[in-house]
Amino acid sequence: MQLCHAKQIQSDSLVLDSRLGSGQFGEVYKGRLGDKMVAVKLMKEGSLHEERVKFLQEAAIMRQFNNLNIVKMHGIVFENEKAMIVMELLENGDLQNYLLKLKRKYSIVIGVFILLIPIHSNKASPYQLLNFCRQICLGMTYLSCKGFIHCDLAARNVLLSKENICKIADFGMSCDLENEAYYYSKGGKIPIKWTAPEAVIKRKYSSASDVWSYGCVLYEIWSLGRKPFETYSNIYALEKVKDGYRLPPPPGCPRSIYKHMIQCWHPIPRERPDFHRLMLSMLQLESEENDELPS
Ligand code: ATP
Repeated sequence: MQLCHAKQIQSDSLVLDSRLGSGQFGEVYKGRLGDKMVAVKLMKEGSLHEERVKFLQEAAIMRQFNNLNIVKMHGIVFENEKAMIVMELLENGDLQNYLLKLKRKYSIVIGVFILLIPIHSNKASPYQLLNFCRQICLGMTYLSCKGFIHCDLAARNVLLSKENICKIADFGMSCDLENEAYYYSKGGKIPIKWTAPEAVIKRKYSSASDVWSYGCVLYEIWSLGRKPFETYSNIYALEKVKDGYRLPPPPGCPRSIYKHMIQCWHPIPRERPDFHRLMLSMLQLESEENDELPS
C-alpha cells in the first residue's frame, strides 16, 4: 500500500471533539490539529482485514488529490492498530442535507405567503444550483483527467465548506484506472439508483459510469434533495432503467439542465458526454444565467 508519501501525523497532536457521522468503514469526528479545525475519520475498532485494506486504500487515493473541489487530506495517523484520516473540515455538511434544508426553508416561506403571492418560480436561486453543478463537474473533471473513477458520486458524498464550496468526498469505492478505460469491480455494495446499468449488471466501471451518476446528482440538486427513484425498490428502478425509462425533470428544472441529465443517462457509455464537455456546458449555462441576473 503506497501510503509512504502521505504526511504522517502523531495521534497526540490531534484533539477529537464531537462526532459528525459514521460510514461503512469508519466514524468521522470534528477535531483540532494545532490551531486548525479538521475532520478525522477513524477506522472502526475490530475491523476485519478487508475493511482495514479498504480504509487505507481510501487514504492512499485521497493523498493524490490537490483540487479545490475535492476534499483535502492533511495526513494520516498510523500507529499500531490505530488508523485515522485527517482531512479538511467542511462545516456546512453534505449537499443532500443542505438541499433538503433549502427546500424546508422555502416551504415555510411559501406556507406563510401562499395566500398573498402566487409563487410559480423554482424555490432556490438557479444561480446557486447551477454553481453547485459546475463545481462538482470541475472536481470530477480533475478526477477523470488524473485517471480516477469515483464509483459512488451522489449528493450525500459532496460536502460543503462554510463558503458553500462543493468538495467531492468519500473515496471508499474509488479506483485508479491505471491507463485502462474501465475496470471490473470485484464485489461489494452498489448504490444502484445512482449507478450506470453496465456497472450494476456487469460491474464495469469507467469515467462514463461516473458521468451517469453525475446526471443523478444534477437531478438531486434541481429537485432540492430528492433521491433518484425515491419510491422504487432497487430492483424495480434497475428494471425500469433497462427498459429505457428515465426520471422526469424535477419541477422548475430548466430544459437545458434536463437535457444534460438525459445525455448523462445514455444507455451506451461512449455516447455520454465526458466531464470536460459537461464542464464547458456548465460554464456556458452559468454565464447565460449571469447575463440574465439584474445588475
Ligand atoms: P460510506 O463511507 O459508508 O459510503 P458515508 O459517506 O456516510 O458512508 P463517511 O465518509 O465515513 O461515510 O462520512 C460519515 C459522515 O461524516 C457523513 O455524514 C459525512 O457528511 C461526514 N463527514 C465526512 N467527512 C467530513 C468532513 N471532511 N467534514 C465534515 N463532515 C464530514
